Amino acid sequence: MNKLYNVTCAKCGARLSVYEQGAIGMAGCYEREEANCPICNAVVASKRTDGILTAELLSK
Ligand SMILES: [Zn+2]
Repeated sequence: MNKLYNVTCAKCGARLSVYEQGAIGMAGCYEREEANCPICNAVVASKRTDGILTAELLSK
């Protein structure tokens, strides 16, 4: 699991870390993936990747 960056949810203000999982760089398999806030489900990040994006809550 590869940490990309931290972000603050624009909707609820939660501090989140965005991770990319499973990316192997396979050409032709790239899709637009989105990470959702675990609190309010707003989209907090998006990237073209062949892995998946996830957002995890930072310590409060
Ligand atoms: Zn949120």
